[in-house]
Amino acid sequence: MSQRVFNFSAGPATLPEVVLEEARDNLVSLGSLGAGICEVSHRGPEYTAIHEEAEERLKRLLGAEQGYTLLFLTGGASQQFFQVPMNLGGDADYVITGTWSEKAFKEAKRFGSPREAASSKETRFDRIPKKLDLNGEARYLHLTSNNTVAGTQWQELPEAEVPLVIDASSDILSRPVDLSNVGLLYAGAQKNLGPAGVTLVLIRDDLLEQCKGDMPTLLDYRTHAEKGSRYNTPPVFPIYVLGLVAKWLEAQGGVEVMAATNRRKAERLYAAIDELSLFEGLAQEDSRSQMNVTFRLTKEGLDKAFLSESKAAGLLGLKGHRSVGGMRASIYNAMPEAGVDALVGFMKEFAGKHA
Ligand SMILES: *Cc1c(COP(=O)(O)O)cnc(C)c1O
Repeated sequence: MSQRVFNFSAGPATLPEVVLEEARDNLVSLGSLGAGICEVSHRGPEYTAIHEEAEERLKRLLGAEQGYTLLFLTGGASQQFFQVPMNLGGDADYVITGTWSEKAFKEAKRFGSPREAASSKETRFDRIPKKLDLNGEARYLHLTSNNTVAGTQWQELPEAEVPLVIDASSDILSRPVDLSNVGLLYAGAQKNLGPAGVTLVLIRDDLLEQCKGDMPTLLDYRTHAEKGSRYNTPPVFPIYVLGLVAKWLEAQGGVEVMAATNRRKAERLYAAIDELSLFEGLAQEDSRSQMNVTFRLTKEGLDKAFLSESKAAGLLGLKGHRSVGGMRASIYNAMPEAGVDALVGFMKEFAGKHA
């Protein structure tokens, strides 16, 4: 048996071990069927039950049982950068808080005249802007709830007259989200939900009705809504694993319990960064992410040693994104508290040795 380590990778990212074990078994044979999850019809009874249960659990966890349609799509969150304005129109407001929102903004220009409502680019995306310049006529207000690269996160959603469209790829189901003004929420699965290959899209039914007419069938949200995300063959294995993760989340006590655990994990790690002079956080304190903790070493020339020694200690994937440098510890739902404790212990020891 291989030894599993604590994996701090930003995405694809760590998954609960019990989920992986159950998926492994059902990859070979779904229960007693004698054929695996990837080998049966996406319209057959076995897969239908799995698909519908995953959808129900996820809607329940998101608090979206009423008035929303949940879709399983492909193309990653990156496809949503254009599919959202293609369906809803691109005359929208965008808050630019990092590379992902920049990319989304760029695609919206193909479908209208989006406006920049605020940007933190001038300070290298180290914060969430406080002042927004909003247009009450915009189709929607787009924001990235958690900035995976810079390590910042909206502490609460902004108020707006228009519906919010949220790229929640890296913090979906990490804390409760008040959906009252959310028109659409999307997330690539591979950060906080499951394997790469499926994108979750939650769309409010009135927005679904307003989708525009002339676009390729497969890119029209209504196509997938009408067919329960089975217009064509969906990514059956990622959807299956998503369902297992949703079941695991419910067994942990749901999103509220997960949020409390995530808060404790982040507080412990930031406390170590603030206490130890060898480390410095990269995000402004009031914008810090509970999912991606970015920091750097204050002494030159130690990055390599930090990475190789942490890896030897069973702490994987701590290298920061190439555009930011330094380190990044991604502590999504599936990272246990023991993983954060092990990282904090390692940082203290490393700081002691290199002080
Ligand atoms: C990773 C990420 C994306 C891109 O996701 P893909 O599925 O690779 O297209 C978009 N937005 C955020 C916030 C991300 O973290």
